[in-house]
Amino acid sequence: MTAPTPLIAGNWKMNGTAAALGEAKAIAEGAAGAAGRVAICPPAVLIHRMAEALAGSSVLVGGQDAHWEDAGAFTGDTSAEMLADAGAKLVILGHSERRDGYRETDDIVAAKTRAALRAGVEPIVCVGETLAQRKAGEALAVVTGQVRGSLPAELAGQAFSVAYEPVWAIGTGLTPTMPEIEEVHRAIRATLVEQFDDHGKTAPILYGGSVKPGNAAEILHADEVGGALVGGASLKAEDFLGIIRAL
Ligand code: PEP
Repeated sequence: MTAPTPLIAGNWKMNGTAAALGEAKAIAEGAAGAAGRVAICPPAVLIHRMAEALAGSSVLVGGQDAHWEDAGAFTGDTSAEMLADAGAKLVILGHSERRDGYRETDDIVAAKTRAALRAGVEPIVCVGETLAQRKAGEALAVVTGQVRGSLPAELAGQAFSVAYEPVWAIGTGLTPTMPEIEEVHRAIRATLVEQFDDHGKTAPILYGGSVKPGNAAEILHADEVGGALVGGASLKAEDFLGIIRAL
């Protein structure tokens, strides 16, 4: 069985206008020859311009969310088909800021994942426990429950990744210990194998939550960590490249 190809994806969240395309180009130049795949997920309105700016580089452009329908009366939303049309190759789904701020359930995330597959956009499905859930000893149950509920059977045989992002580690500067990260990643791997048999062994499991150049090497080399989903530190080429080079 081939080992998962690592993926480092930058989540720019609601940051970045055309002025930030220079930063994306600097990332693409510095990431040439990276030991894995690299992606930047800018705000939806920047996808097309970024895909054009990075054409010919190895850096992929992705979306941060997609609707579960392909088209229709959904004011303000963007479909996976539209993301693909704009040049996105991947899409982050079920980020905790969407699960929490927009009440996205596992069923909704699963429906969005199916929509991404229909559009030919590779899903990065996020899971992660809150601090209260970790303190209550529920982290593994919560995360594996989210994996079962958010990853539809249609992913069998398709390219996808899972991002483990403890909600309390996102944007806080806090990170779990290495044994805590490895424990959750191993539990996710076991769940993926339960769901998808051998194919469950090939999907990268990314870690996300306050990854920085200073902690990237240790995290990226932990057992069952197949890359990173990076928020704040993906906005500046110097920081993001420091993480990419730690692969
Ligand atoms: C994220 O939002 O996906 C994330 C991991 O953010 P940060 O790296 O800033 O903690």
